[in-house]
Amino acid sequence: MNFRKIVIALGLCASVAGLAGHAQAQHAYPVVQGKNYKFQKIADGVYYALPEYNGTAFPFGSNPFFGANLVVVVNKDDVLIVDTGTTPAAARAFVADIKLLTDKPVRYVVNTHWHYDHTDGNSIFGPEVQIIAHAYVRQAIEKFDILHNEPFRSSTRNAPQAMIERFKKQVAAEKDPRRRAALEKKLADTEAATRAFVQDIRDIKPTPPNVTYTDKLVLNRGGREVDLLFLGRGHTGGDTVVFLPRERIVCTGDLMESRIAFMGSAFFDEWLTTLDALKRLDFAVDLPGHGAPFTDKKLITSFQSYLTDVLAQVAKLRAQGVPADEAAKRVDLTAHAGDFPDIEGVGAEPRGIRRIYAWMDERKKR
Ligand SMILES: [Zn+2]
Repeated sequence: MNFRKIVIALGLCASVAGLAGHAQAQHAYPVVQGKNYKFQKIADGVYYALPEYNGTAFPFGSNPFFGANLVVVVNKDDVLIVDTGTTPAAARAFVADIKLLTDKPVRYVVNTHWHYDHTDGNSIFGPEVQIIAHAYVRQAIEKFDILHNEPFRSSTRNAPQAMIERFKKQVAAEKDPRRRAALEKKLADTEAATRAFVQDIRDIKPTPPNVTYTDKLVLNRGGREVDLLFLGRGHTGGDTVVFLPRERIVCTGDLMESRIAFMGSAFFDEWLTTLDALKRLDFAVDLPGHGAPFTDKKLITSFQSYLTDVLAQVAKLRAQGVPADEAAKRVDLTAHAGDFPDIEGVGAEPRGIRRIYAWMDERKKR
């Protein structure tokens, strides 16, 4: 245990510049800086882990190489983690950094859903570790041929290079020489991380959970209660919400992020009602699969109105015979940018819009 590394950030509830008054005003949590993960201490024994690269934060928030933001729950005798990242290398780096928090062994892994950036680190864990998820996750990993389909395919083939190109433009536009030098260092780290990633993805062996449930599973580990809840379909067909009732903490994977979630595997009408069920849980802080912790349930309502809006706009374009990829260019969701600053202009991620078209076809057949 090395609590000397904890830096107590000043101020308990510093609003992020430009976001004051919005649901995303962020708390400053104490930080434990690992080699590849930055841990925010949310409560005693509960940490939110943000992937970095050799101590460098990524230019656009989330790290496409290591994957989702993860959660560590330190129990009396063991450790539970929520999600495992994109590659075995990322998961090994995560487990190594957890040693800064505790000497106890990881015995429980929860996969919030089947997407590669939450499950492809599973293979590093031995049979002594229970990998727990909704039954749908096991079926998905066994049947979907994850490494040749979305979201893995585009996210791993195109996204890293696209991020570098975008970052290079940002560096070129920086006039201040000192800030530019700092950005150049960050760019070099990001490029190194890309090269490492190309190697690391070769080691991925999609590994399904070895324990599954369908509605609810409760773990009691020495005074800590951890509830795994299936509140309904949404981001995927089997999203788990991890709920710590005593600490009033919820981990929502990509069912609810603090940014706009990938929609390519979604069940849209159910997503809206599942988010209603999420709002009924008694929690004080939400630790999402991507983005940052948030405390205001209004953000969930904001995301519901985003989903409602995108569905309505897409339905209209589809009725006019507009193809999905063209609709993805035309939908205008900038009205939601106040709550979700990652919306930078007109248009939406095409895989999500294609999925809305497919889902509307599926619904017609029912
Ligand atoms: Zn996801």
